[in-house]
Amino acid sequence: MSILKVARMGHPTLRARTRAVEPGEIRSPEFQKLVDDMIETMREYQGVGLAAPQLHVGLRLYVAALGAGGHDDEEEDERHEEAPEPEPLVLINPELRLSGGAKVEDWEGCLSIPDLRGIVPRAPEVEVRAFDRDGRRIELRASGFGARVLQHEYDHLDGVLFLDRMTSLESLTFLEEYARFWGKERVPEE
Ligand code: ZN
Repeated sequence: MSILKVARMGHPTLRARTRAVEPGEIRSPEFQKLVDDMIETMREYQGVGLAAPQLHVGLRLYVAALGAGGHDDEEEDERHEEAPEPEPLVLINPELRLSGGAKVEDWEGCLSIPDLRGIVPRAPEVEVRAFDRDGRRIELRASGFGARVLQHEYDHLDGVLFLDRMTSLESLTFLEEYARFWGKERVPEE
């Protein structure tokens, strides 16, 4: 496995079009290695999510450290014991449906926009349909923080950054100032 270079804002890859992963591509060693590298890179930088375009790969694919079955998900979570680090979600060709009514505001950060944090409105709940890394269809629901991460990563597949989603730039804050003036809790980068 390798740690890959994360593209920073300004690199055209973050705004480029992505293509769907072909079903036959998923089981190839190259694709499986890409997934492993994405997970390792996300962990190395202590991110909570990472999308392929952030690693200069124009595919509709992202990983999220929310555990199989998704955050707040009651279905298909077979791990009941407290695993120290659950296997991250791998979502291929995801389709996202926003639900839950009015958007809620909370802080976000992005591995491609290091050391900045800002308040972003997001749908409180999402339903996701995708393929997992074995090519199986998966469906999951998430709410709260999990829903936020899934929306942030999905946006990367369409070349959208969290700054584009901010309704006001007034809250845009460097990490140091966030910790000094705003920081109740750590806002992970995605
Ligand atoms: Zn991001």
